[in-house]
Amino acid sequence: MNQPARHLTSIKADSFTESVIREMSRLAARYEAVNLAQGFPDFPCPHELKEAACQAIMEDINQYAITWGARDFRQAIAEKNSRYLGMQIDPETNITVTCGATEAMAAAMLATIDPGDEVIVFEPYYENYGPDAILAGAVPHYVTLHPPNWTFDEAELAKAFNPKTKGIIINTPHNPTGKVFTRSELETIANLCQKWGVIAFTDEIYEHILYDGAQHVALGSLPGMEDLTVTINGLSKTYSVTGWRVGTIIASAELTSAIRKVHDFLTVGAPAPLQRAGTVAMQLPQSYYDYLAQTYAEKRDTMLRILDEAGLKYFKPQGAYYVFCDISDFGYGSDLEFTNYLIKDIGVAVVPGSSFFRRSDIGHQYIRFCFSKKPETLEAARHRLLKLRDSVRLGR
Ligand code: GLN
Repeated sequence: MNQPARHLTSIKADSFTESVIREMSRLAARYEAVNLAQGFPDFPCPHELKEAACQAIMEDINQYAITWGARDFRQAIAEKNSRYLGMQIDPETNITVTCGATEAMAAAMLATIDPGDEVIVFEPYYENYGPDAILAGAVPHYVTLHPPNWTFDEAELAKAFNPKTKGIIINTPHNPTGKVFTRSELETIANLCQKWGVIAFTDEIYEHILYDGAQHVALGSLPGMEDLTVTINGLSKTYSVTGWRVGTIIASAELTSAIRKVHDFLTVGAPAPLQRAGTVAMQLPQSYYDYLAQTYAEKRDTMLRILDEAGLKYFKPQGAYYVFCDISDFGYGSDLEFTNYLIKDIGVAVVPGSSFFRRSDIGHQYIRFCFSKKPETLEAARHRLLKLRDSVRLGR
């Protein structure tokens, strides 16, 4: 049967590419490279969480939880976050539990953004934000963070706000640079949000992974931002369970009721037994967070030593578990070429910098390493990366 050729995929799906980060994990497996690309820990989660999850399944917690989150879990989220972030949180009206921070961001934007609205995205960015904006029908408006401190130019940011601006995405601690936004930077953003009535979507998933005394400030805790902030988080990074897909949203009652509706029709709810374990996670003592930060500080220092030995230039992270490196000295045509060489010839997978920038001419000089790995994984990477130093010395 001859039918006229019809374009079967949507304009939205056609307007972004597959995730480069996930693609790098597949390549790492294919070439048996040490995977320092996708950001996930290769060590176990706390024993208490495993026990709570197993126990929940054995107790037949196998059916849907309440759409916006099991009551005990929401209660525990409210208690932990009120204490840690200094925010007033009502578990009945301010919290939505989602399938990971990824669904949280998508649901929050779908619930608040209309087609044609503009959303400000800082560049470099975690690769989900652009597609999130497109799926919500928004027009992303990029504002550059400048090295070496990855800060924004205040005038440039102020110019990006206009009557069409509906949202701004902030990620602190920041993936991929490791920047931690200062209180004064967040105050600048907060003032602009209030002036223009703009919603701040803040991805704070690395909030407990901080170095050298850096402090995490929640934008939602700044005066006047209670009703304009959607605070996004999840169990993935703080409790080393990226595959569990449990995310959280804290927002005003007005925003929460819109977000809950969208979340309900997207996924119904997050995994019920894992929410039980989430309650246990929220009740872990301060010593757990101290231990987490201490362990990550050791991993970061190990990673930086390896990069020094290998002759790679980097931006020292203040938070999160990535190191952003400048590869312009290596003389490769692009980050993709260099990444390919690292995966196939050196045996270490990383993420090419261009996946964090809309303008590939800027992104081409960077790559990102993830160091949320066991000491032996980092040691295996070290061993391989030393070949890189030798190849540089020989003029490759
Ligand atoms: N946030 C992690 C990263 O940047 C994992 C991304 C993902 O695969 N969802 O690598």
